[in-house]
Order: sequence, then C-alpha cells, then structure tokens
Amino acid sequence: MYEFNYQSPKSLAEATQAIAQAEDGKILAGGMTLVPTLKQRLARPSDLIDLGRIPDLKGIRRDGDTVTIGAMTTHAEVGASSLVQQAIPGLAWLAGNIGDPAVRNRGTIGGSISNNDPAADYPAALLALGATVHTSKRQLAAADFFVGMFETALEPDEIVTAVAFPVPQKSGYQKFRNPASRYAVVGVFVAKTAAGVRVAVTGAGPSVFRVPEFEAALDKNFAAAALDGLTIPADDLNADIHASAEYRAHLVTVFAKRAVQALA
Ligand SMILES: Cc1cc2nc3c(=O)[nH]c(=O)nc-3n(C[C@H](O)[C@H](O)[C@H](O)COP(=O)(O)OP(=O)(O)OC[C@H]3O[C@@H](n4cnc5c(N)ncnc54)[C@H](O)[C@@H]3O)c2cc1C
Repeated sequence: MYEFNYQSPKSLAEATQAIAQAEDGKILAGGMTLVPTLKQRLARPSDLIDLGRIPDLKGIRRDGDTVTIGAMTTHAEVGASSLVQQAIPGLAWLAGNIGDPAVRNRGTIGGSISNNDPAADYPAALLALGATVHTSKRQLAAADFFVGMFETALEPDEIVTAVAFPVPQKSGYQKFRNPASRYAVVGVFVAKTAAGVRVAVTGAGPSVFRVPEFEAALDKNFAAAALDGLTIPADDLNADIHASAEYRAHLVTVFAKRAVQALA
C-alpha cells in the first residue's frame, strides 16, 4: 500500500469539498474492492475520503411507490430489510445473496454500483427496475449511469448519495454463482411493472444490459414457456476461465426462465 491522506468527513458537504480539493482523491465506502486494490498497489490515490461517518448516506425509506436506499447502506441491511422484502422482494434476495457474510456486512450499494464490476448483482436490479441514481451533483437514470466495464457516468469528484427504486408489481432475481466468490457468472433480474416487463442481465456482458426480445415475449405471456426457443447472441458476451460466451448466452435464457417461473 502506498501512503495516502485519510479523511473522515461528517457530512456530504464536507465530503464533496474534500474530494473536489484532493489532488487525486478516492471515495472509500465498504472498502471491499478498494482496499485490496490499494494493498496490491494497483492504485495510488493522494487521499481517501471515507463516507462511513455520514449518517445521511445510510438507511432505507419508502415514500409512496418509491423505495430509496442510501449509498452507504450495506448489502446485509438491504437483504434483511422487511420494507424491501415486502416492496421489492427480488432486490432483497439479490442483496442477501451477494458474496459472503463479511462482504455483505461491509459492502455498500453505492460502492457496488460506482465500481460497476461486470459480474456485480446490483446493476441488474437498477436497470430492470428503472431506478434513479442520486449523486452529489444530479440524478441519473440507471440506463445512463452504467456506461461500460468498470465504467459509470460519474465524474471524478461526484459522489453517489442514494438509489431510488420504483416499486414494481413483481420482481425476481436468479443467478448462476461463481462457486468461490459468488459473483454472478450470469444474473437475470425480471421486473413486472404497470408499464411492462423489464429483463436485465449482469455477468454475461461487459456491462449490464436489457433483453428486449424477452421483454416483448413476457409482455404477451408472463410465463417461463414464453421464452421457449429465445436466445441471445454470444457475439459480444464475456468469455473467461469460468464460462465461454456461448455458455453464458445459454445461461441467460435458463436463468430468465427460472426468475419468471418463481414469480408466475
Ligand atoms: C470476496 C468478494 C466477493 C464478492 N461477491 C460479490 C457478489 O457475489 N456480488 C456482487 O455484486 N458483488 C460482490 N462483491 C463486491 C462487493 O459486494 C462490494 O459491493 C464491492 O466490493 C464494492 O462496494 P464497497 O462498498 O466495498 O466499495 P469500495 O470498495 O469502498 O469502493 C469501490 C469503488 O467505488 C467507489 N465508491 C464507493 N462508494 C462510492 C460513492 N458513494 N460514490 C462514488 N464512488 C464511490 C470507490 O472510490 C471505489 O472506486 C464481492 C467482493 C468480494 C471482496
């Protein structure tokens, strides 16, 4: 680990000032990704701005048909929240099945989406549910937030403060886990809303994406059988030691069907 200045602001205003003034500052949330990166000397920030002592960034609330989750809320808190379990059960299940207990008790929703790991679970929920990302500067639709592999629309001094999820009629998530890390080799989130069905896939491609053909079929008939014979092309999918692109394409249909089956 290289040397850095550690800062622990007590408010969002202090944090935004600290990140704006730092020469090459980095936000620290749960540290589950950032700390190993620093230990391996893969990054050399001048300052770490720890969001851990800003109470306003934590917590879950419901206002009408919107559930808002503070950026520093841990995966364990989202998974155990009776409010989320009732309003968006697919989201609660997703959060409760991220990594292992240590990761779930430190990792945060803000850290996860800011990192935009192609195998992370949350991006699928944000895209399928049509969530809005609140930052220190603006509000962004999930579709505009996730830009590419480990890439988001965030500016270097911009901080995610919360994520707002519209409450769907039904929601479900199924994933094919990497057996060691539990990251999604493929994860599929299905949301049934008044405006139609949305299907978002993580793990399979460089960044999260929707599957319009599946959505159209499920709009006509919300049943796993509606996806019979439908597949996505393997062309632009990820291939690594865990799964080939073709296998990932196959898993997308299998896990989309499982998600629908669990809901239908
Ligand atoms: C062993 C292991 C297994 C895992 N398994 C899974 C899994 O199954 N599924 C899954 O989805 N994830 C998994 N993860 C990732 C984990 O869930 C964390 O969400 C992830 O590491 C990042 O969250 P964090 O809060 O720890 O962020 P940090 O590590 O603190 O930060 C990550 C990055 O985001 C930036 N950042 C953090 N918060 C903000 C913010 N509010 N605004 C702007 N930028 C910010 C940081 O500067 C940094 O670049 C796993 C991690 C580990 C180590």
